[in-house]
Amino acid sequence: MNEMPRPVTLEAHLDQQARLLTDACTSCGKCVEVCPVVGEATPALAAADPVEVVGGVVRYLQTGARNDLSDSWIQRCTGSGECIAACPESINPRLMLSIALSRLRAEQSASGINPMGTYYRRMAQLIKLAVGMQMTPADYQRLTGRTGNPDTAEVVFYLGCNVLRTPVIVFSLMDILDAIGADYAMLGGASNCCGIIHLKFQGDAPGSEAISRRTVDKLADFEPEKVLHWCPSCDLEFGETVNGFKEYPFDFEHISHFLVSRLDSFRDRLQPVPGKVALHRHDGGLGIDNSVETLLAAIPELELVDIEEDAHFTYTCGPGGLSNVEDMREQAHRATMTSAVAHDADILATLYHTCHRDLCGLEDQYPVEVKNWTAILARALGLPEHEDRYKSIKLHTELSAVLEDAQEFMQMHGLDTTTVAQMLPDLMAGRERGTSVW
Ligand code: SF4
Ligand code: SF4
Repeated sequence: MNEMPRPVTLEAHLDQQARLLTDACTSCGKCVEVCPVVGEATPALAAADPVEVVGGVVRYLQTGARNDLSDSWIQRCTGSGECIAACPESINPRLMLSIALSRLRAEQSASGINPMGTYYRRMAQLIKLAVGMQMTPADYQRLTGRTGNPDTAEVVFYLGCNVLRTPVIVFSLMDILDAIGADYAMLGGASNCCGIIHLKFQGDAPGSEAISRRTVDKLADFEPEKVLHWCPSCDLEFGETVNGFKEYPFDFEHISHFLVSRLDSFRDRLQPVPGKVALHRHDGGLGIDNSVETLLAAIPELELVDIEEDAHFTYTCGPGGLSNVEDMREQAHRATMTSAVAHDADILATLYHTCHRDLCGLEDQYPVEVKNWTAILARALGLPEHEDRYKSIKLHTELSAVLEDAQEFMQMHGLDTTTVAQMLPDLMAGRERGTSVW
């Protein structure tokens, strides 16, 4: 596949990939048969002929002709990746659907009917709000890579955009990197996006190319050996969707894998964290949940308990994953919480920031503490615990309590209390169902 000349634009690259994928696809339907979205989650797709469903996607990529069933599959794909191993032609159906989704969103944007058409602007606003309520401007400058970085670093800790909404995760990871003596620089925030929002949500391939080129160039400026990413969506975007378009002069690695590779250097320093921990998992072929399990299992007196949830249903709780089947979101979260309680877990360890955002808001309904795995590992390393301000805000039932908690930071950022008070009820709606926007 990669012996062909490298296209000069991302759009041309994706066109080339689409041609290769659809030429190789025999429309056997095996990918549809194993897809977890097809079935209980989407009865109309379950009732359809798998050959027809995937055939519609192939036709769309080849001719632009659309049909409702294939449109539905494309838009409800949760990125589980179950289809990849099932394909007898060894092609990647998830990539095929990603490219189809980007084209579909472009058509919807052109017609003014893209439900995700302004997602990037909206996301940047939400990040600004969350940052303005939870951290100092100096911390924000550091996390986005504007201050405090060395000129070069062995590794760059690349945050992507959205984890800035849950600073407790970032602060814990920075403490862990410091504690194990990593030589690292930071880069993150909406202006350093991986490009997935522009490409797969807004259908804007040129916009995606521009922002991801800029991000990769900024990462390369540090001359790192490795870029440690956090977000599974960045992982999929750089590692799969646009992989092969631009050369990366460094290795990408998820920070959980990096920590596992260094585990022997800090295993002896891990202090007991007594109690039962249920790990909330996603697979998606990324192996991140396995690395996190390895890290948690190394902590003395921490007992990992298995819970009943479908780690194979989606690669993340967030947009592009579980949120693509919004009708399943509450049910999936309640199943996770219920199972953690049934297994007597003291802590439900969330995997990603998106999982944490949804699940921590349910903590007041279930007798189990919701904590991200990074905070548990930091505790085991004897590091000071950062307050989970995001969870505190989410669990407040009175708006006045939220504003009071966040007042100090809002003043530092010049956020207007009245404006925030007007925005929050809408953003928090669904909190008690684990489905809020914020
Ligand atoms: S990635 Fe998952 S949800 Fe998407 S098509 Fe493949 S199996 Fe289905
Ligand atoms: S399993 Fe592979 S060859 Fe069969 S329809 Fe899906 S993508 Fe095409």
